[in-house]
Amino acid sequence: MKHLVLFGPPGSGKGTQASRLVDKLGAYHLSTGVLLREAGTQGTPLGLEAKRYMDAGELVPDDTVIGLVKECIAQLDAAIPAVLFDGFPRSLPQATALEKSLSEAAGHGVDLVLMLDIDDAEVMRRLTSRRGCPKCGGIFNIADRDPSETILCEKCGVELVQRPDDNPEAIANRLEVYRSQTQPLVEHYEGLGTLARIDGSGSVDEIHGEVMDALRRKFGAEIAR
Ligand code: AMP
Repeated sequence: MKHLVLFGPPGSGKGTQASRLVDKLGAYHLSTGVLLREAGTQGTPLGLEAKRYMDAGELVPDDTVIGLVKECIAQLDAAIPAVLFDGFPRSLPQATALEKSLSEAAGHGVDLVLMLDIDDAEVMRRLTSRRGCPKCGGIFNIADRDPSETILCEKCGVELVQRPDDNPEAIANRLEVYRSQTQPLVEHYEGLGTLARIDGSGSVDEIHGEVMDALRRKFGAEIAR
């Protein structure tokens, strides 16, 4: 099983590219943001505690997130061709814990980190106009739509909603947190020789093409369907 990390600032398109790779490669998508939001909706003590951090755009404490990811790794089906970590790791202790858990479970750590590079202005533009479907989890950009209009999911017909942390103050904080706590991981993975930089400013299709190129360069025919 290949161990892939989708890395980049909030709004860089990690979730969107992950769902493409799930379709294309049969990969398993492990998003800590999705897991934490689900725990919040279910009202578990972990979820309720996490929600306070998430709504403010802060990182949920390392121990909580590492525990959650370890549980998922322990349950991974070895027959899955690839696992995609989306939004994890976001700090050096998380990266160290991930390397250790994967090595113990599968004998190798992270194989490739796909870094989606975009600038802050583009992050702000994308996230303030991002809406999600509460039923299928689909992500949509409504920049071209009339803001007074009720916008429905193309697939489910359910009204799209905005994440509580997609407001300008929380976005600014998330960018600051990314710079101070998450960006140092770029150097860490560069040092390990596992980082692939991808221009995240193009269209979804263009970025997907670049992601596939990076996968082919690393794994050859083994991965590229
Ligand atoms: P995301 O859906 O990846 O944008 O994550 C939304 C929020 O969940 C983040 O702003 C954090 O508050 C929290 N979160 C997600 N992943 C992590 C992580 N690896 N470490 C700490 N907090 C996280």
